[in-house]
Amino acid sequence: VKLMDIDFINISRYSFLKHIVYPSIEQQKKCFIVTANPEVVIATRDDPDFKTIVKSADYVLADGIGVVNASKLIGNPLKERVTGVDLMYDLLKYADINKKRVFFLGASEEVNIKVAEIVKKDYPGLIIAGRKNGYFNRYNDDIADYIAGTKPDIIFVALGAKRQEGWIHHYLEKFDKGIFIGVGGSFDVLSG
Ligand code: UDP
Repeated sequence: VKLMDIDFINISRYSFLKHIVYPSIEQQKKCFIVTANPEVVIATRDDPDFKTIVKSADYVLADGIGVVNASKLIGNPLKERVTGVDLMYDLLKYADINKKRVFFLGASEEVNIKVAEIVKKDYPGLIIAGRKNGYFNRYNDDIADYIAGTKPDIIFVALGAKRQEGWIHHYLEKFDKGIFIGVGGSFDVLSG
């Protein structure tokens, strides 16, 4: 479904995970996922570089009822809203059951540490490949090399909308595999 020149995948969260994301993890593919809320869609209109980044993603999902409503207005309704935070919880569960390696990039050091502690306790099968707070020079190659070296299956990037997609787009080529998803303020939610 095309909205303001952005192609959204029209799929339920369940099907997206079952048919696309989990098989991508098992096949060790690289996958860049954007969950776009109305602010993100508007930002693509106002910022051509950001639009290029979003259009480079493998999958763009509708994160927000505003986007779903817009799709209804053009007569091509999206099935449902799929939020970054919901995908994060599903992927944590999957990583727990299947012993996958997860990297947590972003948020303050305090929140980032708390996320790692909670994940260790609540998802004991998951392997924490590593963690790094989100307060560093945005384009720091050493940090990206370090993260790539931890060989994560899933990389949650919580640097705030736009910044996180920019980071993923910039550094994706350093990685051989991995599900990359910007999760905005989700670490703050997870850490309570
Ligand atoms: N954040 C970060 N580094 C930054 C700016 C923000 O790690 O340079 C984190 C922030 O701590 C929070 C998340 O990104 O956990 C989302 O930030 P914010 O709510 O400001 O962004 P939004 O997604 O609302 O634009």
